[in-house]
Amino acid sequence: MPGRALPGPDQRGLFIDGGWREAEGGATFPVRDPADGSVLASVADGSVRDAVDALDAAVAAQAGWAASAPRDRGEILRRAFELIRARTDELAELMSLEMGKTVTEARGEVAYGNEFLRWFSEEAVRIHGRWMHAPDGASRLLTVRKPVGPCLLITPWNFPMAMGTRKIGPAIAAGCTMVVKPAELTPLTMLALAAIFDEAGLPPGVLNVVPTSRAAAMSEALMADPRLRKVSFTGSTPVGRQLVRQSAGQLQRLSMELGGNAPFLVFADADVDAAVDGAMLAKMRNMGEACTAANRFLVHTDVAREFAEKLADRMGRLVVGRGQDPGVDVGPLIDERAVDAVHRLVTDAVRDGARLVVGGSAPEGPGCFYHPTVLLDVAQESEINRQEIFGPVAPVSVFTTEEEAVRRANTTEYGLAAYVFTRDLARTVRLAELLEYGMVGVNTGLISNPAAPFGGLKASGFGREGGFEGIEEYLETTYVALPAP
Ligand code: ADP
Repeated sequence: MPGRALPGPDQRGLFIDGGWREAEGGATFPVRDPADGSVLASVADGSVRDAVDALDAAVAAQAGWAASAPRDRGEILRRAFELIRARTDELAELMSLEMGKTVTEARGEVAYGNEFLRWFSEEAVRIHGRWMHAPDGASRLLTVRKPVGPCLLITPWNFPMAMGTRKIGPAIAAGCTMVVKPAELTPLTMLALAAIFDEAGLPPGVLNVVPTSRAAAMSEALMADPRLRKVSFTGSTPVGRQLVRQSAGQLQRLSMELGGNAPFLVFADADVDAAVDGAMLAKMRNMGEACTAANRFLVHTDVAREFAEKLADRMGRLVVGRGQDPGVDVGPLIDERAVDAVHRLVTDAVRDGARLVVGGSAPEGPGCFYHPTVLLDVAQESEINRQEIFGPVAPVSVFTTEEEAVRRANTTEYGLAAYVFTRDLARTVRLAELLEYGMVGVNTGLISNPAAPFGGLKASGFGREGGFEGIEEYLETTYVALPAP
């Protein structure tokens, strides 16, 4: 029942200092259903002034929140976790409506995203410094861990909840306050989360959510403010670069989760059926709209045809349709621009000599849909091998030696995720060391895990989310020198 999960009027506003309010001048922007372009809701369109109000609230709450008991912070996160778990279905429906993914996938994201809250509810009580003797014995060195301070958290539209909880969870656990700017295409899930944190007992001002259609103006103003101490961003590499430049003025701490161009390597000794299973996950999770999505399939020449045919068979059987309809496997892409960009990459690859095994077009009719597509013998220099596809398209090309596979896998400015299918343990160890990626999946197409450090190298950014590393991004260290007794 579309509409059932849509929020009431309050959860379409700005959430500032523990309350809901309109944007300056009553401004709003529409949130659309990517399955048909219809308007789902009008959401408050925060101005720079509204964002500064949110930062004021975060700054005012910072000292008290930093002084709160770690156990209390952990228990608020745990309560939010329980509330979200109890409301999985309605959150999933809401996310599916605004983002397009199937309700089944959205439920998966609610469960996955929620685990960051559980994980960081447990990490909140494990923040600790150290006590050591200086090497010369003349002094003692004490380290004190402190929250970094008010944060700006900017999230993308592809995982409207998980990209938020993996920032909000550690920020709350560490004792930071925050202004969250959700993606303008999918703000409703984040506003629903704000209501849940409020209900879980998060004090006013700790979490503020300001949707806006003017992201650049907002980030510029907030980052020019010396009270803002940290920016965590998930999104495209060009915007990441812009934010890094912007941070120079006030030298904010940064976490940057940017684009990817994941290679998916299948060696001749691999279990090809397992590789196809892994490929379906690594490619089709979120319709391919994930920065960890397998972007380039590099397959040993001995198994390339078998792999491509089996993959095409599976891809060709997927049902494309509205994310809320039963039996649908693949929802719409986020907007028309996304469909055009994906189709352009496919046509370019075919022009460069690739063979279309299945798919290759958008279905007739309304909505931002694209048929799952497999391309074989894709030229190395084709644009599709260099750009993040962000759609349900699998370009397959062949290699002959391990050295060639590694070289080609590393020939990209990105370094987020890589996948390897092989049964050779020594090769696995070699590749884990040689691949210039922050994450390597071995014989699996699914690497995201709240207990693991998620993040990239090179143009994929820096910083880690999740794992023991995730909370470090929100902590500062003060070292205290003490004389030996
Ligand atoms: P995508 O291609 O996934 O839309 P973007 O990098 O454009 O990636 O967007 C990711 C997030 O960054 C969104 O919330 C968007 O509103 C925000 N954003 C885009 N430009 C800026 C900017 N100059 N400053 C701050 N946030 C921005």
